[in-house]
Parts: sequence; structure tokens; C-alpha cells
Amino acid sequence: MAGGAVTCAPCPCCGEMVAMRHEGGTQTNDRTSPWVFVDHLRDDERGGVATRQPCPGSGKNEWEGEHTL
Ligand SMILES: [Zn+2]
Repeated sequence: MAGGAVTCAPCPCCGEMVAMRHEGGTQTNDRTSPWVFVDHLRDDERGGVATRQPCPGSGKNEWEGEHTL
């Protein structure tokens, strides 16, 4: 990202570019980023049929998305 606030990033869960929202508060390290992915859907192909399901990355910051799923 070239300067300024991050407003979207690739979701570690679905790999798509997803908008971020600021939840308020301050960041003390990578794990506590207040920037979280907005609620979004991803393709779920379990059972051989692709359906759009809520992505587990919704509401998580990048660290949480990478380490808690
Ligand atoms: Zn996602």
C-alpha cells in the first residue's frame, strides 16, 4: 500500500480484495489492528455446488484472519 490508510486488502480466507473498516481504538501491534474486513461472502464449493456463504474473514483484521481460522 502506498501511504495513507488501508481501505482494502486481500482477505486471507477467500483471497479476494475486501474493503476494510476502522473499528476505532488504537493499534499497539500487528495483532490489534483496528482495520477489519467488512462483512462479505465467498464461494463455498463443499458438496460440489458453489454457494455464496459469509466469509469467516468478516469482521477480522488481517492478523486474525491469518492466524485464527
Ligand atoms: Zn474473505
